[in-house]
Amino acid sequence: MVRASQLWLYHPHLQPDELLSSWLVRIAHGHGMKLQTFCRVALGKGQDLWFRDIDRQVPDWFVHALFEHTGAGVRQIKRASLLDYRGVLYRRYRWSGHQYWLLPLSMVDTSHHHHGMQFCPLCLAEDEVPYFRKRWRVAFYTMCTKHQCMVHDRCPSCGAPVAFHRREMGKIGQVDAGLITQCHACDFDLRESKVIEPVIYDESAGLTWLPALHMLEGVDVNARYNVGFFAVLHQLCKIMLTHYSHEHLQQFVAAKIGAPEVTLQPKHKSFEYYSLEERHVVIQLAMWLLADPETRIMDAWRNKAVRYNVLKKDFQPRPQWYWWIVKQCVNWRNASLLS
Ligand SMILES: [Zn+2]
Ligand SMILES: [Zn+2]
Repeated sequence: MVRASQLWLYHPHLQPDELLSSWLVRIAHGHGMKLQTFCRVALGKGQDLWFRDIDRQVPDWFVHALFEHTGAGVRQIKRASLLDYRGVLYRRYRWSGHQYWLLPLSMVDTSHHHHGMQFCPLCLAEDEVPYFRKRWRVAFYTMCTKHQCMVHDRCPSCGAPVAFHRREMGKIGQVDAGLITQCHACDFDLRESKVIEPVIYDESAGLTWLPALHMLEGVDVNARYNVGFFAVLHQLCKIMLTHYSHEHLQQFVAAKIGAPEVTLQPKHKSFEYYSLEERHVVIQLAMWLLADPETRIMDAWRNKAVRYNVLKKDFQPRPQWYWWIVKQCVNWRNASLLS
């Protein structure tokens, strides 16, 4: 039970799907204080709290302090961190290092060196109180279904990564943080970013992708989109972004649906490290396969676009339905039987 005397003067509610960091920044600025000053005074931690990706690494003491001073429930606070996707997008949650499906921030001190914080300009523009969403950190969330537009992953004016926690950070004498929607580097209001219509290459790919986006948006939950589905989806993205001398799954699917080819990084990089535009293409290729996995994966295999060993490589535990398909790709006798 929280005593009223412990509550901070300003303790707004968490907005639907709001990120913990967005909420904390709003609380600090609502007190008319610099973020670091607020954290030092109210939490006993200054800048060092922002040396980490606090939406990924949320310590218990921090959750407890927020519980004590805001009146929000512990469960509700934890749900505002990226830990909340455990058991949905990934089985195991990594406290640090690479976590599949989550966009990295690649932090150096308090700066983001990777464009890992995305936003929908129209969601921000529509908000009575603008805030940043948890789903904007998910690598396959490249478009907002409500507004039918691409998200952005950087300030369109200066190209800086979005870092709303740095509005006044390091700016001596500046207390007024301005708006959370302004770029920390050039003050451009992100709500005025260009609205770009997404390209959907194939209807079946789009229809398979949509429920996954809706799930993140809290619109709908579809039982098919469970942790096993997302594991297979990631495995297919990985295969398409790996250099193999004889495999060309990406080219095979891209040709089927008329999508452009994504150039692989010279050294293997996970899906999360590719650009917004590249992720937008690759996820549709993988969704196309999963729109009718038995037919399409087998067809890719028969056309030598992918091999059995690659389909199962470093992939455990595999969902039964996927393994059942992969097992049919063991030998070429199947190919002639099935063709
Ligand atoms: Zn939107
Ligand atoms: Zn900017």
